[in-house]
Amino acid sequence: MTTASYKNYSALEAAELRVREAGEWLKLEDGLIETIVAPRRIIEVAIPFRRDDGSRDQLTGWRVHHNTTRGPAKGGIRYHHEVNREEVIALAMGMSLKTAIANLPLGGAKGGVCFNPKDYSIGEIERITRRYVSEISSFLGPDKDVPAPDVGTNSQIMAWIMDQYSTGVGHATPGVVTGKPIELGGSLGRESATGRGVVEAAALMLGKMGASLQGKKIAIQGYGQVGSWAARLAAARGALIVGLSDVGGTIHSAAGLDLVAIDKAFREGARSVCDTGVGDVVARGVAGSTAVFALDCDIVMPCALGDAVGEEEANNMKAKLVVEGANGPLTPTADLIMAEKGIIVIPDVYANAGGVTCSYLEQCQNFAHLTWDEDEVNARVIDLMRAAFERFYAFAQESKLPNRLAASVLGVKTIADAHRMRGLHP
Ligand code: GLU
Repeated sequence: MTTASYKNYSALEAAELRVREAGEWLKLEDGLIETIVAPRRIIEVAIPFRRDDGSRDQLTGWRVHHNTTRGPAKGGIRYHHEVNREEVIALAMGMSLKTAIANLPLGGAKGGVCFNPKDYSIGEIERITRRYVSEISSFLGPDKDVPAPDVGTNSQIMAWIMDQYSTGVGHATPGVVTGKPIELGGSLGRESATGRGVVEAAALMLGKMGASLQGKKIAIQGYGQVGSWAARLAAARGALIVGLSDVGGTIHSAAGLDLVAIDKAFREGARSVCDTGVGDVVARGVAGSTAVFALDCDIVMPCALGDAVGEEEANNMKAKLVVEGANGPLTPTADLIMAEKGIIVIPDVYANAGGVTCSYLEQCQNFAHLTWDEDEVNARVIDLMRAAFERFYAFAQESKLPNRLAASVLGVKTIADAHRMRGLHP
C-alpha cells in the first residue's frame, strides 16, 4: 500500500484500526472483536461552575470506561481545549491495551474536560474539578475506576479529586485516584515514572541491537511531565539531548543541550525552551515544535500530544528509532513511512506504560497501607517494564509482526483471553 492510499485518520479511527487489525490477525471467534472495540460505558457530563468575576459558565467533560474485564478501569484525566468525546474514547482504548501489554490487573479508561487550564485561575480549576468529579463519582472508586494525571492535570488536581470523592462517601479514600501528592498517599517516583519508562524502553530495544544509550543523540518533543524526565534520565545514562521542542518552538545543539541551565531558566520564569537562552532556536511557535523531528539524531521521542508526526514529519525524520512517550503521536500514515524507511518504532502502549505501572504500585501501597521508598518504587517500575518488554519483544520476534501490530495483537489477545475465561453474562 502506498502512503497516498492512506486517508487522514482521526484519533478514534486510528485506535480502532489498530485494534481491528489485531483482531483480524488473531482470527477472533464469535464477534469477540466487537466487544473489545466497544467502550463499556461513555459518560458525558455538563460542568456548570462559577467564574471568579461571579458569572456562571459551563464546560463539557467525559469519562470513558473502555474495558474492565481484567480489573478496574484505569487512566488519566486530560484538561485541554481540543479534547472531545472521540479522542477520550480513543485514549481509553489505548489504556486497555496498555494495561494488558504491561500485564497489570487493570482495565482501560480516560477522562477529559474541554478547556484550556491556562485561561482559568486556580480557584476556577478547583471548582471545575470538583463539579466534574461529583458528576461522575458514582462511577469512580478503588475497585471501579481510578483516574490519574494526564495532559493538563497534576497532583494538586488529583488531591481535589480524592477530597471530593472522599467527602461524598464519608471517609478518606486515597485509592480512588493515583498521581496524588505524597502527603495524601501518593507514590514516590510517580512524577518521573513515565519518562523513566520511556528511557528504559529505548535502552532495552538498543540492548537487543547490541547498543546502548551511551553517546546516542536524542531529540524530544515536549518538555513537560514526560519529556523533561525522559531528557534528564537519558542524559544521566550518557545520551546527548540534541533537540528539544514545546509550544514555543525547537532548540538544537549538536554537542548536547545543557539541561541544568534549561531547568534553571524555567524556575526563573521562562515559558518555553526557546526562551531559556540554551542552544540555537531553529523554529518558533506551535508549528515550529515539529522541527525537532527533522534534526540529525539517533532517537526521536515524541512526548507531547497525539498526531504530532504526520506524513511530512515522517518523511523528514533522520532518526533510526522512535520511542512514543505521548499517546498516539504517530498517525497511521507516519507509521507506514516508518516501515518504508526502516525506522523502528516502540509504540506508546508499551513505551509510555511506566506511568500507569507506577500508578498500579501506588494502588498496591494504598490497598496495603504501605509506603515504599523512592528507590524501591523505581526498581519495581523498571522490573515490571522489563518483564513486559521481554514478553512483547519475544512475541514480535516470533510473530514477525512490526512492533505496533505486535503490541496491539498482544494487548487484544490478553483481553480476549480474559473475556473467554469469564464467559458472557447472563
Ligand atoms: N495518563 C497516563 C497514561 O496515559 C497515566 C495513566 C494512569 O496512571 O492511570 O498512561
